[in-house]
Amino acid sequence: MGGHTFYPGGLVVDMRPHVAMELDESRDILRVQSGALWSDVIPYLDARGRSVAVMQSNNSFSVGGSLSVNCHGWQFDRGPIASTVESLRLMQADGSIVRCARTENAELFSLVLGGYGLFGIILDVELRVVENERYRLEQHVVPLAQSLATFDRRVDGEPDVRMVYARLCIVPDRLFDEVIISAFFMEAGEVPELSGRGLPDLRRAMFRGSVGSDYGKHLRWSAETEIEPLLTDKSFSRNQLLNEGVAVFENRTEGSTDVLHEYFVPRTGVVAFVKAMREIIPAHDADLLNVTVRSVNRDEDTFLRYADQRMIAFVMLFTQARTEAGEADMRTMTRGLIEAAIAAGGRHYLPYRLHATRDQFHRAYPQARRFFELKRHYDPNELFRNGFYRTYGAE
Ligand SMILES: Cc1cc2nc3c(=O)[nH]c(=O)nc-3n(C[C@H](O)[C@H](O)[C@H](O)COP(=O)(O)OP(=O)(O)OC[C@H]3O[C@@H](n4cnc5c(N)ncnc54)[C@H](O)[C@@H]3O)c2cc1C
Repeated sequence: MGGHTFYPGGLVVDMRPHVAMELDESRDILRVQSGALWSDVIPYLDARGRSVAVMQSNNSFSVGGSLSVNCHGWQFDRGPIASTVESLRLMQADGSIVRCARTENAELFSLVLGGYGLFGIILDVELRVVENERYRLEQHVVPLAQSLATFDRRVDGEPDVRMVYARLCIVPDRLFDEVIISAFFMEAGEVPELSGRGLPDLRRAMFRGSVGSDYGKHLRWSAETEIEPLLTDKSFSRNQLLNEGVAVFENRTEGSTDVLHEYFVPRTGVVAFVKAMREIIPAHDADLLNVTVRSVNRDEDTFLRYADQRMIAFVMLFTQARTEAGEADMRTMTRGLIEAAIAAGGRHYLPYRLHATRDQFHRAYPQARRFFELKRHYDPNELFRNGFYRTYGAE
């Protein structure tokens, strides 16, 4: 979304053919090449009774891309993916290959994870994996004002809770009034076979039907709060929950595009940030399709870290016109939301549009100046470049 993989006049190294993987069952370590997608990894692990410990909410992404943004998901009581990396092998700008881990080339390890490809090419990685488990879903539909208390009472600290997300109501005249909290608890019993989450066409029609339509948004919220719980299977496998592609909500029109945003704020900043979202988004008349909320534990591993403490993450999906005016409106609104996140003690996530000003970027990530100095130390000829580096890092 922000030119992180491309550079004008540059070459793109396509790692997709490199998909080999091997599980060390005695150590629960998966060694996997960086071009593998989660949709390759999950069936492989499923056949061996294992699952991915931390990944995004969809399976369409590559291992290398996931490490390079230091992704996170809705796995509960977990930090970002870096926390699950045992070691990786990196091809540097001079062609040398080095192993990086917490005790070997440790600085490079912390820079490459969440390093947006600027330090070299990740060849393969040793990832800690977890058991595939059977889960039951518990959902709570509550007014916004009760959502944190419900989360504290029913989810946080519960020993068997494994995956959690919340969704805010996006119906314009009831914006954020209600919240659905979905929590998956481990339960005993046979683990269901790997399959999709069910009804992909219906869920897609419902989702896309809410674009540009208040009626569609009403209908979708009613379905999600009232009908969907009845249709959903009662037991899930962990892998089944992770194994969904982005096609369920993909925008296939020519005139518009969907844009993701994500903001991390500490618990103390949540109320102020939601208040700001409620003012900023309608003021820009933005077409908001989705808000999911997740909890991310503190990141102990990466240099350019977004979770410098436990964070609440707000992921928002908007549709905008594919025009200069559409882009300009989105840029202005994004800058407003970034300012609100910084004021709430947090920051924006970096894989998306490069709408933050340089000043905002450096206030949100004060360690970034050093990060870019180290980039030039490890890659003095600036072989590895992208739009992100050009916008925020180049001198
Ligand atoms: C619909 C959608 C949903 C998303 N949901 C989530 C989510 O739930 N959680 C979350 O954290 N993020 C989420 N994201 C963001 C996503 O995690 C990142 O965009 C991620 O980088 C995508 O992986 P990719 O394989 O497409 O990477 P690419 O876009 O190909 O690459 C991303 C970055 O990684 C670098 N890179 C890729 N491979 C390598 C390699 N082998 N060595 C070195 N550098 C490399 C690229 O140069 C680039 O800078 C979402 C994005 C979309 C579009």
